[in-house]
Amino acid sequence: MKPTIIRNGRIIDPASKRDEIGDLYISDGRIVEQSAIRDLRHSGSDQSAIEEIDASDLIVCPGLIDIHVHLREPGFVHKETIESGARAAAAGGFTTVVCMPNTSPVADNPSTIAWIKDRAAEAACVNVLPSGAISKNLGGEELAPLGSFARAGVVAITDDGHCVQNHELMRRAVEYAHMVGLPVLDHCQDYNLVGNGVVHEGYWSTLLGLPGWPAAGEEAIVARNILLSELCDHEIHCQHISASGSVRLLREARSRGVKVSGEVCPHHIALTDKAIENFDTNCKMNPPLRSDKDVDALLEGIVDGTLTILASDHAPHASFEKEVEFDQAPFGILGLETEFGLFSEILVHKRKVIDLSRLIEMFTVEPARLLNLDAGTLAVGAAADVTLIDPNLAWTVNASEFQSLSRNTPFDGWKLRGRAVRTIVKGQTVWKL
Ligand SMILES: [Zn+2]
Repeated sequence: MKPTIIRNGRIIDPASKRDEIGDLYISDGRIVEQSAIRDLRHSGSDQSAIEEIDASDLIVCPGLIDIHVHLREPGFVHKETIESGARAAAAGGFTTVVCMPNTSPVADNPSTIAWIKDRAAEAACVNVLPSGAISKNLGGEELAPLGSFARAGVVAITDDGHCVQNHELMRRAVEYAHMVGLPVLDHCQDYNLVGNGVVHEGYWSTLLGLPGWPAAGEEAIVARNILLSELCDHEIHCQHISASGSVRLLREARSRGVKVSGEVCPHHIALTDKAIENFDTNCKMNPPLRSDKDVDALLEGIVDGTLTILASDHAPHASFEKEVEFDQAPFGILGLETEFGLFSEILVHKRKVIDLSRLIEMFTVEPARLLNLDAGTLAVGAAADVTLIDPNLAWTVNASEFQSLSRNTPFDGWKLRGRAVRTIVKGQTVWKL
C-alpha cells in the first residue's frame, strides 16, 4: 500500500477539535505524522511511490459511521448482500457500518455472528460491524446468549425491526449487557398500541383509510427505556426517533443525567406523512413518516443535543416486494447513498440548524462514543479511515446509479447539496466520485 498525502483540504476532526487547512499523512493504513513521510523520502525510497491526493476546496474528515443498516445477508441476498451494502456505504462516504441482526438465520448466536464477520472480511470494502439480537429469534420471549455475543465481537445488541414487549425481560437484557459491557439499542414500538398500523395515525391515515401507527406507540417504549436505563445504570439508545413526544421525554431524562440517547434518520426530517397521499410504498417505513410538528421537534432535538446520532436505517427491498398494495408492502427504504446529502441539504444548507463540523461530529465522534468504537478520529495512530467531502456540490439523486442491489427510495430525482467524493478505508481508496 502506497503512503499517501492528502493535500490542502479543510481538515475537520471534531474528536481533536481540529478545523484547519492542511495536509493529512497516511502510511501502512494509519494516520501518521508528517515526519514519517519525510523519513520515507529521505530513506531514498522511490518518490513516485508516494500517492498525492489534491483536496483543495474539500473537507477531509474521519470516515463516517452509520450504526443502523440492514445488509440482508445471510438470508435475503435478493435485497442486498454484505458486499453490495458495503459498496453503497462507501459511495455514501461511510467507512464503518453496524448491521442489524434481523437476517435469516437471525444473528442471535455466536456462529451466525462469526459467519457475518468472516463474510465481511472477505467481501466488504468498508468496516462492517455486527450487532446481535436481544432475544432469541427476535421473539421477545427468551434472551439471546449475551455473554457469548460479547466474546463473538458484536458491538451492540438490538431486536431492531422488533421490540421486546416484556419489560422484565428487557430489564434482564440491560442488566446482562451492563455486566458484559455491551451497548443496548432499541427499536421503540409498543405492539398493542401500534397494532396493524402502517402509517402515522393522524389526518392522512384517516383520509386514506390506512391503519394508524400512533406516536404514543413509540413514546411509551422510549419512556420504558428511560426507566430501565435508570434502574440498571446502563445506556439505552433509542433507534430512529420519529415523534415529538419522544424528543421531549429524552430531553427531560438527559437533563437529569439519565444515560439514554436517540437517533434521527433522514427520511423522518425530509418528509412528512403527506408523502403517502399517492400510496407510494417507498414512503412506508417503521416508524412511519409523521407530521410537520414532529419534524420540527426532531430538528430542535438535533440543535439542542437531545438527539446525538444520525443514521440511515438502510433497509433494501426488491421492487417486486414493494410494488404491492400499501398495507402489504414491507417497511423500509434505502439510506446509505442519500443520507449524507439529505442531512447536509436539510440541516446545513436549507434550515441552517447546525454547521458542517457538528454534522461531521454526529457521524463520527458521537457513534464512536456510543458503541466504544476505535474509529471516528484522524488522530495520529488511528486507522486511516477518511472521507473527502465537497460540502457545496449540487447533485441529483439517481437511483439507477446506486451501488445497492435495491432501488426503494422516495428521493430519486431530489436535488441535494453536499456529497462525499472519495472514501478511504485503512489507507485504500474504496470509492471515488
Ligand atoms: Zn427499526
